[in-house]
Amino acid sequence: MARLAAKSVKLRPLLERVLTDFPPVARTGADPIQFPRWFFNKKRPAAEIEAVALFSAMLAYGSAAQFIKKIQQTLDACNWQFLDLICDPVQTARFAWPAYRLSTGNEIGIFASAVGNLIRQNKSLKTVFLKGFQPDSSIKDGLVALRQSICREAEKISGPLSRGTRHLLPDPSAGGCVKRWQMFLRWLVRPEDGVDMNIWPEVSPSLLLIPLDRHISRIARNLGLTSRASDDWKTAEEISARLAELCPEDPIKYDFSLCHLGIAGECTHGKDQSLCQRCLLASVCQAAKPGKN
Ligand code: SF4
Repeated sequence: MARLAAKSVKLRPLLERVLTDFPPVARTGADPIQFPRWFFNKKRPAAEIEAVALFSAMLAYGSAAQFIKKIQQTLDACNWQFLDLICDPVQTARFAWPAYRLSTGNEIGIFASAVGNLIRQNKSLKTVFLKGFQPDSSIKDGLVALRQSICREAEKISGPLSRGTRHLLPDPSAGGCVKRWQMFLRWLVRPEDGVDMNIWPEVSPSLLLIPLDRHISRIARNLGLTSRASDDWKTAEEISARLAELCPEDPIKYDFSLCHLGIAGECTHGKDQSLCQRCLLASVCQAAKPGKN
């Protein structure tokens, strides 16, 4: 415990420097957050911001350039009237939903229509999340409640869920890290900082888990934030608990900057030591080899 506390003392100012040197606001154009953020900036209804956030988060896998193009294409095609589109079953059925990787256009339309039905019935996705949410323990039950409700609506539209529709709705109770759900929550829950939007203030940012992917988990291992080998829910919990030692009220605040170190090509996990030589985290990173260039 004392060793961890000492490590935290060293790591915190370095991560704060990363946050300053890689300000999240400057990188939103390369991130799917740009879409819900546009609706937020335009003061559009909270339900529409939630719906666009969920749609953007669930399509955010594979190549960033590709999924950003698909989301943009969809929003352009409905003239950025996303809530009107998904809340009208006739329009949703007629709309030419672009296919993306594992999901056909039809499967993406079923997912979007299920979200629209849920918003029509409950006024917002937050209401559905809060039905399961356990404020004293974790965000998992809220996510499970929201996912189950969307799945039920999707089944009403198309019968048993196909693989491509299920891929858009990863199951938070299955043990995986469900990066896309964690990212969606981060956007809606974290304090408004020019990127995240805090439109679900009922959920404390202290409960968020890091949206874990290959890049974040490798950095986390190199920084000694986890020793677990798999990228699952438990590992996301462990890394988030370590980060909570640095900032208990907002442990995920460093996520965006760490994530974009990889996207911007500033971190190759030690492969390119010239990057490590100029990296702010070199003194605490196991992948940096002093003197090697
Ligand atoms: S020191 Fe190197 S491997 Fe570690 S975070 Fe920085 S660039 Fe990445």
